[in-house]
Amino acid sequence: MGRTKNEQVGLDYWSLLRYFVFGPTRHTTIGVAMLLDVFNVDHGACALMTSSNGRRIMVDCGHHSETQWFPGNALNDREIFDLDRLIVSHFDEDHCSGIGNLLTKVHVHQLVFNGSTPSEIVRQMKAKQGMRQGTETLVRALEQTFTIPVSLHSDAYEFGDMSWSTFQNRYEPPYGFTDSNNLSLVTFVRCGPHKIIFPGDLEVAGWKQLLRNRAFVNELQGVTIFMASHHGRLNGYCEDVMDLCPQLDVVIFTDEGIRFDTQRTAALYRQHVSRGIFFAGKHRRVLTTRTDKSMRFELRAEGGGQVALNIAA
Ligand SMILES: [Zn+2]
Repeated sequence: MGRTKNEQVGLDYWSLLRYFVFGPTRHTTIGVAMLLDVFNVDHGACALMTSSNGRRIMVDCGHHSETQWFPGNALNDREIFDLDRLIVSHFDEDHCSGIGNLLTKVHVHQLVFNGSTPSEIVRQMKAKQGMRQGTETLVRALEQTFTIPVSLHSDAYEFGDMSWSTFQNRYEPPYGFTDSNNLSLVTFVRCGPHKIIFPGDLEVAGWKQLLRNRAFVNELQGVTIFMASHHGRLNGYCEDVMDLCPQLDVVIFTDEGIRFDTQRTAALYRQHVSRGIFFAGKHRRVLTTRTDKSMRFELRAEGGGQVALNIAA
């Protein structure tokens, strides 16, 4: 497990660096309530959360074409062979290109996605441009393996002090949403005072529709880590949403594959981050996989935590 730099989240939270023990045995590490890994997957998304009782949720499963980083291999390298949940925000290739490797190497117990886009709808949506390998593998997995829909409310799993919720727009032609970005499943993961939002590639129209849902508006309150929608592109930025998140520690772009597009939006997001991260003498409000590569957050139950950037994931 490589670490090159470590610093604080928030103002005065950390005194000691603690390592979480990865491995086949489920461990609890004193002081760390939850781990968040954001992997650098070129143009795409892949994040892993590990609860204090060792439960694991992955959101999206892209891969890195140049470094040949694949999610299943990466988990196996950490001696992880089980994933309690895989949440796929939507069916675009950059969010599922590593699924073949993941399903080969790791037992995924349950798969969560926007239930209004079952496999036959995805096949219709992708009929024009054709399905690439990751999407095809994902759709086949839905048809052959993950045939029972997951209900949040009948969840038999115990995720320690981590909990989660999802929101989605519905596939409703001819007047509702039919594009995969605005059908992104939005996931919130909570743990003590921390709350992370994963909006997939939701665009402004999709955000505005979700804002009509009072429960969604309420859930935005208290978000501390904001994964920027659509990898930080302008069409994923919704000012109304950001105004509802006044307690941000940091915004994260998964933008390595974009490079030139996100400079402007970084400035837009930065103004919404109240706290920021003190890292290597700098006050950072926006982290990006383009410059910071893979990153790991160790989040503490009492708030704050520690982040390592440029990690060998
Ligand atoms: Zn994407």
